[in-house]
Order: sequence, then C-alpha cells, then structure tokens
Amino acid sequence: MFKHFTLFLFALCSLSALSQPHVVAHRGYWRADGSAQNSITSFQKAASIGCWGSEFDVWLTADGVPVVFHDANVNGIRIEDTTYATLMNIQLKNGEFIPTLQQYLQEALRWPDIRLIFEVKPHRNAKRDALASEMSVELINMLGLASRTDYISFSKNACKRLHELAPDAKIAYLSGDLAPQEVKEMGLTGIDYSIGTFDKHPEWPLEAKNLGLEVNVWTVDGEEALGRFAKMPGIDIITTNDPEILFNVIKK
Ligand code: MG
Repeated sequence: MFKHFTLFLFALCSLSALSQPHVVAHRGYWRADGSAQNSITSFQKAASIGCWGSEFDVWLTADGVPVVFHDANVNGIRIEDTTYATLMNIQLKNGEFIPTLQQYLQEALRWPDIRLIFEVKPHRNAKRDALASEMSVELINMLGLASRTDYISFSKNACKRLHELAPDAKIAYLSGDLAPQEVKEMGLTGIDYSIGTFDKHPEWPLEAKNLGLEVNVWTVDGEEALGRFAKMPGIDIITTNDPEILFNVIKK
C-alpha cells in the first residue's frame, strides 16, 4: 500500500514537472547587465542562468553573409541591401559589434546545454528566404549543432524550405494566420504564436497538442502574464524578455 502511494506521489510530481513550460530567452537575455539584444553576451547570459533555449534573429546581407540582428534596418541601412563590410563596424548597445551567424554559433559550441531557437527573418522575396534558409542549415550542420537547433520563421517560404533541408528538425511557424491543422499539413512541428493570437484563438494550444505540435508563445513579460501562460494547458514553451522572472513564477 505504502509502495503504491509512493509511486502515485512520484507520478504526480513527474506530471507536474512535465507540465512546466520551457523558458526561452527572447533575443537572448538582453536585459541582463552588460547585455544587448542578439549580442553574444545575451546568449552567454541566457545559457548561464539555465534557460532551456535562447532565441535569435538572422538576416542575410546583400553579399550573402548571415548576421544576427533583429530589425531589417540598422542605423537607417537595410541589412539586405548592404554588404557585410559596411555592417561589421556597427556597435550594439553594449559595445559589441553585430555578430555574424558563424561567430554567434561558435559561442554556442561553448554552451552545450542550451537549445538554439533560430529565427530566419522574412527576406525580400521567396528566393532570398530560400537562400537564407539554405545558408542557415548548412552552417548549423557544419558546426554539428543540428540536434539542438529549432527553427522558427514568420515566412511560409522559409519554413517550407527549412523543412525540405532539415526534415528531422523542429520547425515552428510564427505568423499566427494559420490554424494548427494547416501548420501540421505543411509538415512543420510547432506553432510559435503571439499572446494576441492565443487570446483570439484560445482553443489553438490544445488543438495543436492533439495534433502532436509543440506550442510556444511570444513575447510574454511581467509576472502576471508569465503566471497566466505558465499555467495554461497546452503551452510547452514561453518566449520572454524576463527569463529570471519566469523561473521565479514556475518555482512558486
Ligand atoms: Mg525573433
């Protein structure tokens, strides 16, 4: 009897542990001291506090160099229209230079316990989306990082191309205009939708779970919202600018 009760307690504890969402730092942990969005420091900070994953954004320059940066433009220059040589001396808010994807991933090799949540930004046209996807997957494979890289994109073209190139990789769609069933039919493995999308479609997390899709929500900040999504059935992953607050919310 006692043994069964212990087993029951054990099962209950495992279940509650299983239901806790994974913590993904949005653009790295950039709110930490000395950090900046998408900087190499932001990746180090996310890894050093034990985030499950760290998200970052990738654009291709005009001459085909993948760089890690969020906005389409930097200092009024459109990344897609300029060469890497023009960008390489631009500093981020913490004094680092804009990292190339290769520099960023080389840092990732030093932190083997954190997943890479790799966003391919939506480029000017389908051809550029495909090229960005191809260069991304090639570099990830070359550095032996495939088993801990999950791809995400707002671009349907990029998602489709990524799926062709890396059929075993987890790939989630970001735009929120497709129901879980449609994402499943594209061969993708997850939905990674905004708070607003899930507010509009509260049925989608569980619908997605029933289809075997992974469910990620962005960008959830502050204790109240983090608490709401941490408890929401069907949410596997929370992408946040406040990873330390989320850890505290989960611990409670
Ligand atoms: Mg992003």
